[in-house]
Amino acid sequence: MPIKVLDPKVVSRIAAGEVVERPASVVKELVENSLDAGASQISIEVRGGGISLIRVTDNGAGIPPGEVGLAFDRYATSKISSLEDLESILSLGFRGEALPSIAAVAQVDMITCAPGEKVGAYLSLIGGTIVGRGSLGRARGTAVTVRNLFRQVPARLKFLKSMATENGHIANVVSQYALAFPEVKFSLSIDGRVALRTPGSGRLIDSIVEVYGAEVAGYMIEIGGEAKASSPQVAGMVGSPKVNRSGRGQLSFFVNRRWVNSRLLARAVEDAYHGFLMSRKHPVAVINIWLPAQEVDVNIHPTKSEVKFRNEHLVFTTVHRAVRQALVEKMPVPRIEEVAVAYESPSRQAFPLPTQVRPASPAPWAPEVPTSPLPVLRVLGQLDNSYIIAEGPDGLYLIDQHAAHERVLFDNIEHQRLRREIEIQGLLEPMTLEVSPRQGEVLRSHYDDLAEFGFSIEPFGDRTFLVRAVPALVYRKDWVGMLRELLDSLAEGAKSDWVEGIARSIACHGAVRAGQALTDTEMRELVRQLEQSATPRTCPHGRPTMIHLSSGQLKKEFGRT
Ligand code: ADP
Ligand code: MG
Repeated sequence: MPIKVLDPKVVSRIAAGEVVERPASVVKELVENSLDAGASQISIEVRGGGISLIRVTDNGAGIPPGEVGLAFDRYATSKISSLEDLESILSLGFRGEALPSIAAVAQVDMITCAPGEKVGAYLSLIGGTIVGRGSLGRARGTAVTVRNLFRQVPARLKFLKSMATENGHIANVVSQYALAFPEVKFSLSIDGRVALRTPGSGRLIDSIVEVYGAEVAGYMIEIGGEAKASSPQVAGMVGSPKVNRSGRGQLSFFVNRRWVNSRLLARAVEDAYHGFLMSRKHPVAVINIWLPAQEVDVNIHPTKSEVKFRNEHLVFTTVHRAVRQALVEKMPVPRIEEVAVAYESPSRQAFPLPTQVRPASPAPWAPEVPTSPLPVLRVLGQLDNSYIIAEGPDGLYLIDQHAAHERVLFDNIEHQRLRREIEIQGLLEPMTLEVSPRQGEVLRSHYDDLAEFGFSIEPFGDRTFLVRAVPALVYRKDWVGMLRELLDSLAEGAKSDWVEGIARSIACHGAVRAGQALTDTEMRELVRQLEQSATPRTCPHGRPTMIHLSSGQLKKEFGRT
């Protein structure tokens, strides 16, 4: 094909793809526009996962009638006008790309009324072309309605996940901005249900109550309270180590009030929790960072969700220090149970061989082929309250009691589920479970999967659920924490991921822990059950359950041949 310049329609479709990745991107851009317009109330209405309808209504500054059409031109913005302005951006938008990008891939209606205007103006566009305009009475502010998103872009439509997943992303975007702007009243309705509503009181804790629930809010600690002239300034709230999560989804960072993803900041916070949290657990944190606009470059990505700091080291240490200081000052001396040890790969555990006989690589206890069956083993004893020492016809076995029990339970659960024989424990009183808007969306679409395993859960208010029964295996365990972990880690999962994920999670929470003394009978019973497993050598997460030292390897270690 000869080289030629692309048709403007093609160009705009390509460019739109960078800004509008999924329905939640539309919500993000529209909410940012409302915030830039100084709105104190923003309501978001979504239907059909955001594909059928997204409507964002605000009471902000509006657009003068003469400029409404211009707002949909590419690179048309009221927020910067020169190259120098790019150095000192404090608004959320500035690239003038959002409205034209959205209009290129959907059907858009805007109604807006600026102060001083007697009537408002409206504009309708389909696929970026204006198909209607006029004037209309309206209170001050702007309403943008987006319909049939991606209908003309089948390729993009195909890549979208389930409606629950898209709703989850949307709920997350609105939650983040509700945390960043506690003085703004947000309301999010998804398919007619109120998914989130904040009071707009200006107090961060009030937004946290709505997004994470009153229980989490009760454990939040303020950071960086004192007003200092120094820069960067850090303020916000972090969770006491009592509230922790298995994913990083509850770390929010705002730089000059812009919601950003930043590995640098995530590491600064997680490092600050060192010694306060078990490994593989992550804190809850809402952190605002203020610094002069020249100190941060926000123009490195079309979605504006990544930033570059001029002085990364300074930002890192300031955030780290603020979080660490708050934890040290406000927390009692931490007592960490080393439960995490059960999750470490046994090959990295301190194996009590004197250093001088520690062999050179390859290590003789490298994990074995996971599927080979297990011979009959004789239990010799327990090591460190964590490992079972056993002898087989072919040498020594060191079995990780937690991982082994996980494997046994996982196999049983799968077996029972298929025969609908899962043992269920009803709760004496139904228990209420409060979840974040995103978790709520995910939970709603997985009642059935959870019910297959014995969780009886029903809606009870907007973001509260009633739990009436749980699998007997986790009745006395932290099944609330387990449910939250599942909702976070499987948010995007398909049905099969859920079935396996729930089984894995029940097995993990139901299994004996490291550090727990076992009687001889218990150990024998566990080993006997492990012998029955088709895959005894790995836990359901794929980690080894045992280390095997064959008689031959032992002889070699002792220098005999
Ligand atoms: P940007 O936000 O980068 O300027 P957009 O395409 O998102 O680009 O919006 C273009 C312009 O339309 C904005 O600069 C602003 O002047 C106007 N605008 C968009 N949404 C609103 C709104 N909700 N209220 C007032 N003005 C708006
Ligand atoms: Mg914008």
